[in-house]
Amino acid sequence: MGKLTALEEVRAKNTDIDKYLYLKHLQRESEPAFYRLLLQQTEEILPIVYTPTVGEACQRYHRLPLTPVGLHLRATDPCFLTKLQAWPHQDVRVVVVTDGERVLGLGDLGAGGMGIAEGKILLYTAAAGVDPQACLPVMLDVGTNNETLLADPLYKGLRQRRLVGADYWEVVERFMTSLKQWQPHTLVQYEDFANHHAFQLLEKYRGSHCCFNDDIQGTACITLAGLMSALRVTGGQLSEQRIMFHGAGEAGTGIAELIAIALHRMHGLSIEEGRKHCIFLDSKGLVCASRGDLQPHKQPFAHDIPYQKTLLDAVLEFKPTALIGVSTMRGAFSEGVLKAMSACNRRPIVFPLSNPTTKAECTFKEAMRASRGCALFASGSPFPSIRGPKGVELHAAQANNAYIFPAIGFAAILTRASHISDDAFLVAAKCLSEMTQKAEAYRGLLFPRFQSIQAVSLKLTCEVARLMVGPDGGGQLPEELAGQTNPDWEAFVANRMYKPLPNAKL
Ligand code: NAP
Ligand code: MN
Repeated sequence: MGKLTALEEVRAKNTDIDKYLYLKHLQRESEPAFYRLLLQQTEEILPIVYTPTVGEACQRYHRLPLTPVGLHLRATDPCFLTKLQAWPHQDVRVVVVTDGERVLGLGDLGAGGMGIAEGKILLYTAAAGVDPQACLPVMLDVGTNNETLLADPLYKGLRQRRLVGADYWEVVERFMTSLKQWQPHTLVQYEDFANHHAFQLLEKYRGSHCCFNDDIQGTACITLAGLMSALRVTGGQLSEQRIMFHGAGEAGTGIAELIAIALHRMHGLSIEEGRKHCIFLDSKGLVCASRGDLQPHKQPFAHDIPYQKTLLDAVLEFKPTALIGVSTMRGAFSEGVLKAMSACNRRPIVFPLSNPTTKAECTFKEAMRASRGCALFASGSPFPSIRGPKGVELHAAQANNAYIFPAIGFAAILTRASHISDDAFLVAAKCLSEMTQKAEAYRGLLFPRFQSIQAVSLKLTCEVARLMVGPDGGGQLPEELAGQTNPDWEAFVANRMYKPLPNAKL
């Protein structure tokens, strides 16, 4: 018998974590073979190197036999710049950085967060075709409050409690300045920071650095795209929607802020009026003006409306047209809530976005049963299709950020953008929703099919790049396109997409 191909090796492993370990090994030992596999078998390989398997890998990171692919920066390192300058590839254009404080829905995993930075950055190559050598995952280690890790002799991160306050921000500042000194045009994606840092981090650097936060802005963009596709089915306008959020964290308030911007840009509302279309519940009930306990990111959404304790009460009181779940509360979209949504909407929009599957506010089946197949549904984690009332196959859409952030990032890289504006996310949401076929949206497919991710990313990259080289876009027209009256972005981007060298069969 001949030698197994890489794909056969993967398939021969019994557990997902063994598949993960094999693929990490392949990535280190034979980079072209790894990326060939990732690009050609994206749908099979991605769930192993990214979610869901990467979650388990992050939890067990220090007990697994693996060598990290990314760069581990410790708060105690005397000089970040020296470490960056020692990195084997010097033409880095995108960094995904985490401090590991809120990895997926799994909490503080300390230096195990390296796994999420390593996993997420692969999407830049898999979806948008960014050269892997231009991609750098970074674990910014400021300690951990995870007692199990602190007590684990095998833990390889800083064995101290998390830095807080000025000490924390000093390390972040040192990282951001060293990075800029090393590679002035590098895009920074903040990933899985806890929300008590994430909003501030973004506000602090978004004006001066080319950066974004996928948990806040990428999620906002994919969800707005899903809403726009759903509205093509219902025939409604965004300005007619009342959108209720269960959960008022990074994802929820990020989505609402982009909706307010969309209402401002597309329907002429002020941002404040736009925000009034978004109503929130957090763990203490309705977010409203009479509450005195609200964190800064919730305050813009504390409308002067009567407090409600439960989601059901709030649905009955405000009759929302759309319900978005970002609370990690399995079952929050109960039968009663879903039926109340159906009672006030012919086609209720129901997006239980919490991950992983076990945290989703409702399942696809539950939403379809309670709405008699009428709900327009999108979830964070995938759900299998089901047979509808008349035997038709109903599809669950998956609001996957991977449709969005690699393309926006690639556009920023190609145009050497100085910053990433909200408009970039707005344009990407519109463009993605327009790529969804109306007939498919009627059957529940609110996003293009994932098999076409590379074609989708190419189109999105071009749209966003056009915006970035326009007024206030922050980008520069690439030299190759400078002389053209009608720049051929498609050809330019396609030509820049990474292609692993062809080799023996997989
Ligand atoms: P986060 O910043 O920690 O926010 C979670 C929010 O949920 C908080 O506002 C929290 O309330 C609220 N909450 C917790 N328990 C609740 C309850 N019993 N009732 C009502 N609200 C409750 O987390 P995040 O980053 O926004 O992420 C939330 C979820 O969205 C995660 O499961 C994540 O996987 C998912 N997500 C999905 C996508 C996607 O589908 N593309 C993208 C991003 C995130 P307090 O503020 O009162 O604590
Ligand atoms: Mn994340």
